[in-house]
Amino acid sequence: MSLVVQKYGGTSVGDADRIRNVARRVIAAKEAGNDVVVVVSAMGDATDDLIKLAHQITDSPNAREMDVLLSTGEMVSSTLLTMALENMGYKTISLSGAQAGIQTDSNYSHARIQSINPSRIVAEIKNGNIVIVAGFQGITKNNDITTLGRGGSDTTAVALAASLGASVCERYTDVEGIFTADPRVVPNASKLKEISYDEMLELATYGSKVMHPRAVEIGQIYNVPILVASSFNDRPGTLIHGGLMEIQNKVTAITQDMDVAKITIVGVPDTPGIAASIFEPLAKTGISVDTIVQNASIQNITDLTFTVTKGDAGKALQMVRPIAEKVGARECVADTKLAKVSIIGSGMQNTPGYAATMFSTLFAAGINIQLITTSEIRITVIITDDKANEASKALHKAFALEK
Ligand code: ADP
Ligand code: ASP
Ligand code: MG
Repeated sequence: MSLVVQKYGGTSVGDADRIRNVARRVIAAKEAGNDVVVVVSAMGDATDDLIKLAHQITDSPNAREMDVLLSTGEMVSSTLLTMALENMGYKTISLSGAQAGIQTDSNYSHARIQSINPSRIVAEIKNGNIVIVAGFQGITKNNDITTLGRGGSDTTAVALAASLGASVCERYTDVEGIFTADPRVVPNASKLKEISYDEMLELATYGSKVMHPRAVEIGQIYNVPILVASSFNDRPGTLIHGGLMEIQNKVTAITQDMDVAKITIVGVPDTPGIAASIFEPLAKTGISVDTIVQNASIQNITDLTFTVTKGDAGKALQMVRPIAEKVGARECVADTKLAKVSIIGSGMQNTPGYAATMFSTLFAAGINIQLITTSEIRITVIITDDKANEASKALHKAFALEK
């Protein structure tokens, strides 16, 4: 008998009817002769609502308590799905992350899975149960509940698929697969038949919420193909895998990340140790710094710019200001209205011209580029966030990605 791991996202389990719809799809997989393990996200906006509620109580919720609170969202959907399946006459059991044997480190709100002991899941499958696992959560070795970061149910699913030796992880959502851009931003985006782990990882890391980056990483490490498809119809989705790809000498997709702020320290004396003195304290408070750019120095004075999330900008500025003053910098300024827009494609490797097309397209659209970063298969520009949608559309067209 083969084993299937399915994951259903928040919209797919958004209300009672949708939970019944998911139950029918799970049953179809079971009736096709599979053992089935299902991972679910919290219903609809449940996680956002819990976060809002906590902030109505306090400005700085305790990290441990916050993770316990957020883990309840997935407990609700997993138990309800179990009830729906039982009601339709199937043997089933729900398991929390802890019961499913998912052990993590103790970094609350962004814990990483350290190990999985699948013995309980395996035993429940042997008992004939369809196993429903609450996504997005685990437990530390000291028995404290943790969560895996926003979108983390994807990671639960791929990690379980790897640990149980499933041949594929099916990830069902509210779009029909991975598109050449977010279809909400670029309506004529086209669905990809397949995409490599490398490209998907860049897409996920640079703003495509459709997959949690860590899930892609785990899929790549353990060689678990991930099928992304709709939970509302049976059209073919997109396979994320590491096998041979059709050769495509072009850009594969465009992605944007609206959550970008920039901090610039102006007029920094260019002496050794300055960067360390600025970035060490930020790292210690858990502020993750992304793009870092230091201008060429003129007469030993330089500007240092880095990006953080919009939510971290205030705190980062507060921390950096006194340090900047101490090292004799002229001033410290923040811009919290930025976005990243990226073009991604393995075909760009060693092929000239992509950057030129990208920049001239943005120039023609009257969009000013503030910063540029690249990897072997990605070029990212940082621009003002009110221009991000326009930039994505223009680039999508320039690289001929439409249907
Ligand atoms: P789920 O609740 O199923 O985890 P998410 O909302 O996290 O679903 O992810 C699905 C959403 O990702 C889609 O509704 C779509 O707007 C967005 N998205 C962003 N980029 C892409 C892309 N390249 N292809 C498909 N969807 C994308
Ligand atoms: N419910 C969590 C979130 O909204 C995890 C997930 O949906 O994957 O981020
Ligand atoms: Mg998601």
